[in-house]
Amino acid sequence: MADGRQPGGYEDLPQTPANFAALSPVSFLKRTAAVFPDRVAVRYGDLSRTWAETDARCRRLASALRGLGVGPGDTVAIIAPNTPALLEAHLAAPMLGAVLNALNTRLDARTICYILGHGEAKVLLTDVELHGPVREALAGLENPPVVIDIEDADAVDPARLGRMTYEELLSGGDARFEGTPPEDEWRALSLNYTSGTTGEPKGVVYSHRGAYLNALGNAVTWSMGQFPIYLWTLPMFHCNGWCFPWTVTALAGTHVCLRRVERDAIFDAVERYGVTHLCGAPIVMAMMTGALTEEPERARRVFGGRAPGAGVRMMTAAAPPPAPVIAKMEELGVDLTHVYGLTEVYGPAVVCDWNPEWDALPAEERARIKARQGVPYPVQEAMMVADPDTMEPAPADGETLGEIFMRGNITMKGYLKRPEATEAAFAGGWFHTGDLGVLHPDGYVEIRDRSKDIIISGGENISSIEVENALYKHPAVAAVAVVARPDEKWGETPCAFVELNEGAAATEEELIAHCREHLAGFQRPKSVLFETLPKTSTGKIQKNILREKAKGL
Ligand code: ADP
Repeated sequence: MADGRQPGGYEDLPQTPANFAALSPVSFLKRTAAVFPDRVAVRYGDLSRTWAETDARCRRLASALRGLGVGPGDTVAIIAPNTPALLEAHLAAPMLGAVLNALNTRLDARTICYILGHGEAKVLLTDVELHGPVREALAGLENPPVVIDIEDADAVDPARLGRMTYEELLSGGDARFEGTPPEDEWRALSLNYTSGTTGEPKGVVYSHRGAYLNALGNAVTWSMGQFPIYLWTLPMFHCNGWCFPWTVTALAGTHVCLRRVERDAIFDAVERYGVTHLCGAPIVMAMMTGALTEEPERARRVFGGRAPGAGVRMMTAAAPPPAPVIAKMEELGVDLTHVYGLTEVYGPAVVCDWNPEWDALPAEERARIKARQGVPYPVQEAMMVADPDTMEPAPADGETLGEIFMRGNITMKGYLKRPEATEAAFAGGWFHTGDLGVLHPDGYVEIRDRSKDIIISGGENISSIEVENALYKHPAVAAVAVVARPDEKWGETPCAFVELNEGAAATEEELIAHCREHLAGFQRPKSVLFETLPKTSTGKIQKNILREKAKGL
């Protein structure tokens, strides 16, 4: 064997600026602005800006933030709907080596206050519509950040809080500012607080390297190609919009910003701009498929009539898409990709990678396959289903329940200022997702529950998702969540909360009887309640609230 360390040997070759650069999403904007300066970068209502204009605005923003004293490692917070300002912040803050903290727009004052304090934000960019909770949050801070108001003609009941508007800030910036992106790709890029379905929010820290990789991971996994027209139906504050601000920029696409995610706005944008890609939770799909019955002509006009293979493509996560939803999306003509992830893995890190041979299967079978979460992204190293105590991998039998673990380059740096939580999340060299699933013989993972959602009745595990799937098969059911209800005899029993389709009717007895066709006796819900399900701003059903309710029944 050759001595790799001899002069010029394999391991003696030098790493220099000629052959090594820190991975950072900052480089995507630079390239796209240089190569495609005149292509449309951003659309927002009637506004449209090219990549050259967007690049200049981002440089102005970065230099103006520098002027406010923001340097490498400082936190820049922003709270705004999916507007051009939120996109620009994603592209500009990293130019300085600053850490972007995008906040959920539906948070209450107390949580905003906690996050701004915990993240030590130096500057807060805030949309003028959100002044209510933000004002209250700022009042509770010992060291409040510099506040900049993002004005917007479409803001409802706007009010100013800061000393300067966003446009004033930009006008004082330098359009040729070069910035100082970090030399070390492991430096922090962004801070994303978990949305709190699992207790108090934790600040998940992303690195430049991880975001760079997952931005490209999206492009490769979804075979996106150049110049996508990407509609912002997924909140950009959620896991940095699953890294799509950087993906779409790298591909010289067009970001179609959307202040309010509603069916009309979605359909208008798709029609007006020729949207090719969008992402969102099942709630967004429900908005879209509702048109099939309510405005079938419009649905056909907006989504149909494109050349084969040129239709709209959607990525969905947050919950497995139920079979009827998959069928309706097919009817609408939208190609659906199911992904799975968490804030801790930069958004989507697992995909139900579609094998074209499955196209020929009957609809029900296709839906069953598509509801599985799947296999890791090519940029994530590994995933396993294993016993959470022994970390012994589960057999690939589609039955043995275990916790899902991941490791690799799109796993967070850790939780900000929470060393114990970070250590626990990474114990044994794997990231513990807290999700429970099975591994199928073909290597695809299927989630059965979150650890804390599993129902244990008479010592038997009941997957809340299985019970939910059975209920979804009833034609009157629009949405359902099943949680554990404490029970003296059984320990816990499944309790279902159900939202019915408009105009549909069903009774508790009827739904329990319906479950008889699909579930064993112990799995059937013992109580069914009809009500609107509480959801987070990202469309996730808040089972924690329902669990509390079930306790009190
Ligand atoms: P939070 O944990 O704050 O609610 P996250 O986006 O990090 O916000 O939530 C990630 C969780 O969402 C996962 O742990 C999993 O339980 C659930 N989830 C995400 N995608 C899917 C999916 N495709 N199928 C089933 N559950 C999913």
